[in-house]
Amino acid sequence: MKEYSTATLLAQAGHFVDELTGAVTPPVHPSTTFARDENYELMGAYLYGREQNPTNELVEQLAASLDHGKEAMLFSSGMAAIASVFETINTGQQIAAPGIMYYGAQDWLRWISKKREIDLSFFDAGDPMGLRKALIPGKTALVWIESPVNPSWDVIDIADSAKVAHEAGAILAVDGTVSTPITTKALEFGADIVFHSATKYLNGHGDVNAGVLVTKVLDQRWDEIKYIRKHVGAVLGPFDSWLLLRGMRTLSLRFERASSNALKIAQYFENHPKVEKMLYPGLESHPGHLIAQRQMTHGFGGMLSICVKGGSAEAVSVATNLKLFVSATSLGGVESLVEHRATVEGPLSRVPENLLRFSVGIEEVEDLISDLEQGLNVI
Ligand SMILES: *Cc1c(COP(=O)(O)O)cnc(C)c1O
Repeated sequence: MKEYSTATLLAQAGHFVDELTGAVTPPVHPSTTFARDENYELMGAYLYGREQNPTNELVEQLAASLDHGKEAMLFSSGMAAIASVFETINTGQQIAAPGIMYYGAQDWLRWISKKREIDLSFFDAGDPMGLRKALIPGKTALVWIESPVNPSWDVIDIADSAKVAHEAGAILAVDGTVSTPITTKALEFGADIVFHSATKYLNGHGDVNAGVLVTKVLDQRWDEIKYIRKHVGAVLGPFDSWLLLRGMRTLSLRFERASSNALKIAQYFENHPKVEKMLYPGLESHPGHLIAQRQMTHGFGGMLSICVKGGSAEAVSVATNLKLFVSATSLGGVESLVEHRATVEGPLSRVPENLLRFSVGIEEVEDLISDLEQGLNVI
């Protein structure tokens, strides 16, 4: 079959037409149980809702084709997917991850590693030798990276990380939530597993919690993750799955607009007198820009951070004075959000006190720029 481009696959929900009815919109199958025929054989490929449901499977096929993977698995949240991957690591093995990364995943990593006596090594994502120094060949089982890294937007070289991880006998898993398969197909750069919090860009409307894993190969680890999902009941429910698919159909347009808005905002405010540092991988001044250009083929995304002149009080004051940007956590939705990460993460946070994280939405960029201008001018 001809391989369609990402935008085409998304718009047509995987080139879907229902064979039974001709429906162009995919159906939702809420059934939790599936019948057997007169020979006591299952009539379809499904047994029970905690294991799998047809609505999920449709989204999984689309997710696998977006990332050019073998298979995908949908979970009831991003963290459920992440935890299922970590669950495959045994006592005595090692996990390496960036020192600054998605806070929830890092928090869980610390907890599970301590409990299971897994060796945990955090490396500096800004240091090209960082990962090499963190690995213990033969002991490291999993390298978990994000690119760009939340919320500093450091760009990690996926191809180089894959090479280094594989040489040490580890697999590479990439959290691609912020880049999405629109602009980065991590498996093509050598990753073994790619993860997306579908709560963010994939769904994009702030009304579904979901996570997805895509694998390059069908191996024992993948079977184990499937086993875990089934037994802990971390599968995504059919109604959420259906909503997610509807959101995904406009992903390429939403991502394109968010990327274009974010680039304009980053350029406009880069040299603003109240801005100490603008962090956006699409700027030529960004230390990871060259890698980003290679790795992000269709835009640099809608996420950026601003270190304002001053400290925590000044940053919070800008956030509370913004009228259009909503002060809330999460990212990748159609509406623009702002967040003071240091407050949200608490005392263990390594995020600078004067940093504000912005999830740029698909609004008219002029409105966003004037709101930010007035917000910055209060400090
Ligand atoms: C939100 C997020 C997650 C966790 O996903 P949930 O759907 O909230 O469980 C993981 N990684 C990144 C980068 C995220 O932004």
